[in-house]
Amino acid sequence: MTARKIEFILQPVPVLEGAGVRLKRSFPAGRLNYLDPFLLLDHFGSMNPEDYLKGFPMHPHRGIETVTYVLNGAVAHRDSLGNEGTISTGDVQWMTSGRGILHEEMPQVRPEGMDGFQLWVNLPANQKMTKPRYQEINSQKLPQFVTENGAVIRVVAGKVGPVTGPVTQIAVEPVYIDVSMPAGSAFNQPITAGHNAFVYIFEGRGSFGAGTPSDSVSIDAPNLAILSEGDSLNVFTSDRPVRFLLVSGKPLNEPVARYGPFVMNTKEEISQALDDLRRGTFVTQ
Ligand code: MN
Repeated sequence: MTARKIEFILQPVPVLEGAGVRLKRSFPAGRLNYLDPFLLLDHFGSMNPEDYLKGFPMHPHRGIETVTYVLNGAVAHRDSLGNEGTISTGDVQWMTSGRGILHEEMPQVRPEGMDGFQLWVNLPANQKMTKPRYQEINSQKLPQFVTENGAVIRVVAGKVGPVTGPVTQIAVEPVYIDVSMPAGSAFNQPITAGHNAFVYIFEGRGSFGAGTPSDSVSIDAPNLAILSEGDSLNVFTSDRPVRFLLVSGKPLNEPVARYGPFVMNTKEEISQALDDLRRGTFVTQ
């Protein structure tokens, strides 16, 4: 096996998004516009309701999937197709916008605060105008795998050891896992060769990449690390535990035309999305 190495590290930048939500954005920012097929990674985390309560009022999406993973707290959502619910601690919502939804995502004020992630995943050209679809996974149904040396892995998508994540039928064949490693442990995960991959370290510190602790890179939270080509990832911890997301997917290698919440292949398709929105023909059953 060829262990993937750390290609580069990006510190997330503070961003004000939606109606005034303070979050940490890993990309698009600075030197990384997107990592095909992944278009955006936001980490929203705060104990102060002022940082999140204004939320994300009604807004459209077309051509992408939005993946919301709540670590702590709750987000109420409602959409133009009549779907409505609350994603709470440990829950995941994998939303395929396809040809279009209008929705709101409103973090709820809770004593435990608000903490979680949103990842945007691109759709291939031939699925951009597909019917919208939700895959919602309750925290109790999210499978966990515990390694021999005590790492706990929550599997949203992809395969870890004998465990397969519940999110299925996604074009880019994603792996999306949440890995918690105790101090003094090691973890190895196969990653399909040719797929793009990153880790987002959000608690503690770990050593990533290469084959041994001495030739890997020590990374503190919060940081995003883009992985090089290869077919596996090695992670080590020494004096501290670490918690991180590992995400990989098949690159689409298609043109990307993006405008806010619309991500299509051409400028004309973006114009069409804006026209549809103006004419009230954006959402079709
Ligand atoms: Mn949204």
